[in-house]
Amino acid sequence: MCGIVGIKSHSPAANEIYDSLIHLQHRGQDAAGIVTYNHRVHIKKGLGLVRDIFDANNMVRLEGNTGIGHTRYPTHGGYGDGEVQPFWTDVPYGIALAHNGNLVNYKELAHEISMEDKRYLNTHSDTEILLHIFADNLNKARKTMDDTDFFDQVCYAVKKVQQRTSGSYSVIASIVGKGMVIFRDPHGIRPLAGGQRKNDDGTTDFIFSSETTMFYALGYEPAENVKPGEVVYIDEDFTVHRRQLAKKDFTPCIFEYVYFSRPDTMMNHVSVYRSRLRMGQNLAEAWKTIYPDKKPDIVIPAPSTANTAALSMAHALGVRYSEGLYKNPFIGRTFIMPGQTEREKSVKYKMVPQAIEIRNKKVMIVDDSIVRGNTSRQIVKMVKDFGANEIYFVVACPPVKYPCFYGVDMPTKSELIASRSSEEEIQKYMGVDALLYQKIDDLVEAVTRKGDHNIDHPCVACLNGEYVTKDVDEQKMQEMEQLRNADRNERTLSIFR
Ligand code: SF4
Repeated sequence: MCGIVGIKSHSPAANEIYDSLIHLQHRGQDAAGIVTYNHRVHIKKGLGLVRDIFDANNMVRLEGNTGIGHTRYPTHGGYGDGEVQPFWTDVPYGIALAHNGNLVNYKELAHEISMEDKRYLNTHSDTEILLHIFADNLNKARKTMDDTDFFDQVCYAVKKVQQRTSGSYSVIASIVGKGMVIFRDPHGIRPLAGGQRKNDDGTTDFIFSSETTMFYALGYEPAENVKPGEVVYIDEDFTVHRRQLAKKDFTPCIFEYVYFSRPDTMMNHVSVYRSRLRMGQNLAEAWKTIYPDKKPDIVIPAPSTANTAALSMAHALGVRYSEGLYKNPFIGRTFIMPGQTEREKSVKYKMVPQAIEIRNKKVMIVDDSIVRGNTSRQIVKMVKDFGANEIYFVVACPPVKYPCFYGVDMPTKSELIASRSSEEEIQKYMGVDALLYQKIDDLVEAVTRKGDHNIDHPCVACLNGEYVTKDVDEQKMQEMEQLRNADRNERTLSIFR
């Protein structure tokens, strides 16, 4: 998972890109970068949080009205300054590119590009592969299609990307002297929203981003999203060109709604907040059917992604909603912290149970998901230690049984508790009196019930093993997991270097 943003404006873009990255910080806390251009290209990238990388001195050097930004959450690639996006190439024109997603056929492409195209790959990042394929084909189009429109040449290059790659990619690129190019994989797995701002002088500025979280603060109105397989090009005269080059079933990631996205985001024209409310409603109905005799005294979310589902679940059950676990907002999300030890250690630092809300009560804990099971188990232990009489554990997401190869840093299959244990075994491991997982159909219903969306069916591959690109079998899974483990080891080594 990563956050990407691109702005083509009539005024300097850097400060707005910085503000956008702050609003995308939840999508990646590992590194960030901004590239702008006027008559020259200006780049600032670094490791850490957005606020720690950029300061008044380096921001002032990011001149130009066009720019792109990235917050990094590593799913693929090593760890170090060289892996931080946006990536840059000077041929042709000068292209900077930011990517959110993951290429399933990275290994094959890296081999082809190194051995056949004789291109040196300086990183383990699939963004470098994407940039190479796009730039190389744009350069070919420049030479062989020079009697055509530049947008036709862009379409040629994006079509080549679509033909050679498999997986998920939402991409924003800036091309010096040409404008901004935005494209999305044919399944639309990772999000890519569009916005516009009308200026007083009648001109229009454009923003494209993983989420709409910064639109209000920066004065942008939501506009047409980038469709699956579509390429959008904003030229230097601010004319918008768009073309859908490929279209497969629209299968956006369901985990964005469950966990990753900020609740105030409109994602694929569906409110993330409302979808989470509906998850809670569906869970309440299932609870009443399966456990008609078990009524909790309070419903407590495992903060904070599960707050919304817990709120609607409590309402539907007629039970008091309680923030019985206080979350320290200054500690990062456990799911994306590297290494098990830090993860385990951070739970106690991160959450403090409120004894007055818990003691002698039947407590229903609502969590967004159970991945490895360790965090959930520790939460249960804390609530038990603080005197709960009974504990029921309810999960907004169905059992996560398969790894994600489309850009979410899931553990390997063997680390996922639901891939090796039954629900009864998980209930026992967690030490709870009842366990309820959302059903896949209920989750899909919660996401797709409302909104002016065109979702055919969301990707639920990590829940049912049906990968939407149809090219992930057992052998591919093992190969991808080996690659990921190698990346993780490299990152761990880098941290201690
Ligand atoms: Fe999202 Fe899961 Fe599909 Fe990955 S496999 S894109 S996390 S739904």
